[in-house]
Amino acid sequence: MELIFATNNKHKLEEIQAIIGSSFKILSLNDIGFSGDIPETQPTIEGNALQKAEYIFERFNKPVFADDTGLEVIALNEAPGVYSARYAGPDCSFSDNVNLLLKNLLGHTDRSSRFKTVIALKLSESHLKLFEGIIEGVITEKILGEGGFGYDPIFKPKGFSETFSEMSTETKNRISHRGLATQKLVSFLKELNEKI
Ligand code: IMP
Repeated sequence: MELIFATNNKHKLEEIQAIIGSSFKILSLNDIGFSGDIPETQPTIEGNALQKAEYIFERFNKPVFADDTGLEVIALNEAPGVYSARYAGPDCSFSDNVNLLLKNLLGHTDRSSRFKTVIALKLSESHLKLFEGIIEGVITEKILGEGGFGYDPIFKPKGFSETFSEMSTETKNRISHRGLATQKLVSFLKELNEKI
């Protein structure tokens, strides 16, 4: 069975193809010849994942899934949330976002936060399913580690003494928001594959 993943992020594509095995062939946006921008204008992570999956389904009429992720910081009313990629402005870098978040948390004692990923799977006009992955943790007071991307150097998952940046990719993928949501998607797809 072929499934479109509404992304061109090579890392995400390789990660999911490795977990999913050979029963499903994952096609990227490049593979299907889509080169435009997919709108992401919803106020929630769920809404954006859904919007992306539906946008591609409407155009290609093929099974598709899309993901969206945000970091929710409790003391900042769950910001940056859906705006995580562009927290410090439209063309900002990962380090601009990290620095702004550290600045906005100065003086706050509650540094709890969570990463949330939602994957929306649209199999047909009437068959839609959402998979959620959440990891709770804290925002550190300074940058720790060099691995990973985004907010990894300042996010320390609950029960761990290292930030995402300091741990191995294998450990991060096993426990992370995206890893958890992906595992749920893959279990669902494997079950579906056994039925057809
Ligand atoms: P996306 O929806 O996967 O593109 O994620 C949106 C933004 O959230 C990214 O641009 C990053 O800033 C942040 N983000 C998502 N996943 C991670 C992660 O695993 N570690 C750190 N930051 C992340």
